[in-house]
Amino acid sequence: MPQIRFSALQEAQKHKPIEKEWPYEKVSDIFGMHTFNIRAMKEYMTPEAYKSVADAVKKGSKIDRGIADQVASGMKAWAMKLGATHYTHWFQPLTGATAEKHDSFFEPTGDGQAIEKFSGGMLVQQEPDASSFPNGGIRNTFEARGYTAWDPTSPAFIMGRTLCIPTVFVSYTGEALDNKTPLLRALQSVDQAATQVCQYFDRNVRKVTATLGWEQEYFLVDAALFNARPDLMLTGRTLIGHAPAKGQQLDDHYFGSIPERARHFMRELEVESYKLGIPVKTRHNEVAPSQFELAPVFEEANISVDHNSLIMDLMDKVAGRHNFKVLLHEKPYKGVNGSGKHNNWSLATDTGVNLLAPGKTPKSNLQFLTFFINAIKSVHEYADLLRASIASASNDHRLGANEAPPAIISVFIGSQLTATLDALEQLEKGKLSPEQKTDLKLNVVGKIPEILLDNTDRNRTSPFAFTGNKFELRAVGSTANCAQPMTILNTIMAKQLTEFKKSVDALIEGGMKKDDAIFNVLRDYIRESRNIRFEGDGYSQAWADEAAKRGLSNVRTTPHALDFYVTDKAISLFEECGVMNKVEVEARHEIMLEEYMMKIQIESRTLGDIAGNHVVPTAINYQNKLIQNVRGLKEVLAADVYQKVAKDQLNMIEKISAYISTIISEKEAMIEERKTCNAIEDAREKAIAYCEKVLPYFDRIRYAVDKLEMLVDDELWPLPKYRELIFM
Ligand code: ADP
Ligand code: MG
Repeated sequence: MPQIRFSALQEAQKHKPIEKEWPYEKVSDIFGMHTFNIRAMKEYMTPEAYKSVADAVKKGSKIDRGIADQVASGMKAWAMKLGATHYTHWFQPLTGATAEKHDSFFEPTGDGQAIEKFSGGMLVQQEPDASSFPNGGIRNTFEARGYTAWDPTSPAFIMGRTLCIPTVFVSYTGEALDNKTPLLRALQSVDQAATQVCQYFDRNVRKVTATLGWEQEYFLVDAALFNARPDLMLTGRTLIGHAPAKGQQLDDHYFGSIPERARHFMRELEVESYKLGIPVKTRHNEVAPSQFELAPVFEEANISVDHNSLIMDLMDKVAGRHNFKVLLHEKPYKGVNGSGKHNNWSLATDTGVNLLAPGKTPKSNLQFLTFFINAIKSVHEYADLLRASIASASNDHRLGANEAPPAIISVFIGSQLTATLDALEQLEKGKLSPEQKTDLKLNVVGKIPEILLDNTDRNRTSPFAFTGNKFELRAVGSTANCAQPMTILNTIMAKQLTEFKKSVDALIEGGMKKDDAIFNVLRDYIRESRNIRFEGDGYSQAWADEAAKRGLSNVRTTPHALDFYVTDKAISLFEECGVMNKVEVEARHEIMLEEYMMKIQIESRTLGDIAGNHVVPTAINYQNKLIQNVRGLKEVLAADVYQKVAKDQLNMIEKISAYISTIISEKEAMIEERKTCNAIEDAREKAIAYCEKVLPYFDRIRYAVDKLEMLVDDELWPLPKYRELIFM
């Protein structure tokens, strides 16, 4: 066996479960011990500084410089007590990953001594050496650089020996260069709009927060095997590999009992997450072999997004200690179920009400229906934008692959709520009669809680499904930064609620009673947004056909889906809600196109290398053995016997030659195609060319490679095979 595969398999064999003792009794003993949370703030800060931070979190008020110094000094004392020596502004650039630049607290005083210093200025603002982060032309590298600014709404935390301060990343002229800035603006926008709508029902509501509960799916693979696969290392997915004889087709839970090694990894990951205040609960309901899921209790959306970014880093770190690699890619293995990241989303008031949960009284249910129907209407208006928000090269493999929701956005609400909306839709326009109102309250609005209780509809094929007290956006990819879909969802909801308020107020001004006005507008919305609702099988061809008739978009590839970001409609939405200006949107669009193009480019190069440098030589090597063998047979066998037995081997030699020839010629053609694409200047055209001209070579090359994997002597095959990667 070639050295590379042989030693990887040997090393993987040696990896044993790594068990740790956890020196605590309850989770609450360690929960949040590495975050600068309320408890730590109260202990390390003056009451004045604490109040200022609390107000900033609650009301978005500014923290002045003097107070910032006090906060910084408290933070430093706390962090140093926990062993921190450095600090960093932690942010989420547009490339998806997180970024940090570590600075030491230590500062020489010039007299041969030193102090540990961390001032308000260092806390509040920093100029990272970040000229290499993508900026889509907003910020020329030779111009003034961007800066990071403290986000007090997300608690600082300690990773290793570093104090990490969640920050936004903006240019000096104020344009967002990261994922967090637009999210914060969207959250503010939805807060304003939703709080106003809440006034119809409860005047005590002062603030509405968006909530997010994500469910992160991932694969684990042995680190030694991972390192022996250049495609996994460079692209996060396998570009070649024949399906194993036994895959997931049996669904027999051969993999149902999580291997010991994985269990110990999960345990440590949980403990590390708790220390960082991430309220995770490991799930064990993997669908594919070696696939797992992690989900926290839901939190305020900004914090939840940060926690997801953080945990993706953390997974990698903890996995290393267990000789694992975490695969976050949406489709690491062909023919094996991919990974997603469901985004459960709702809105909650500062009076403790979940606005997407049916209440106990008709009044609270009218409030529920208001938010519920507005959510559906917003998705109806901006389905394309929601599609764009989940677009990425890796998620393209999943959307519409009959394992994840299709690229068609639709809303599932279940049969009971469908019946409720149907009843409301029947209302006549204008003022309701007292009988109608009573009927509505008793039989429609009043019935919601009891019907929802036994609503067991669980449509798994819908991209946006109502699940009893929240909507679940299921089309998000496992590598995604949740900030993108969350920015869009909250922005379109903000816009929708603002429109709703305008319409209701207009009717009220025209003399209609408040409830009548609300019913009237909702009834119109139900009619207008009917098209986006779909209760059937989202994976079926019938739905694709039906959706086309309804005029719903079905955009299967990222470069085209991203177009929806830069339509006039989208840009005015972003500007109206104060989420992004035109320059920011266009810059972002360009960055995402470039990222897409680069991903395909890297994959294409990697595939070319593997096919050309690993597979072809191996196949030729084996082919020579066969040729030698056939020659030998001719020498030792009688002519008539030889004629009979050599046939099959000659046939094999021919097949191998044909596949080798396919690989070589397709690879060459792919390289030529890349050259043509690389000459294209326009980012959009270039991304489309990579998608439509380069990508199609992958399947043809892979087909030949995978056939060879089946033909060539296992002893000679250089790369770990699917069965070795997947069944640890
Ligand atoms: P599934 O059946 O998809 O596994 P669950 O019903 O178990 O879904 O819950 C999924 C997620 O929904 C959980 O992670 C939970 O935190 C989240 N969730 C529950 N309520 C809310 C809410 N009000 N807002 C946001 N997320 C929520
Ligand atoms: Mg789910």
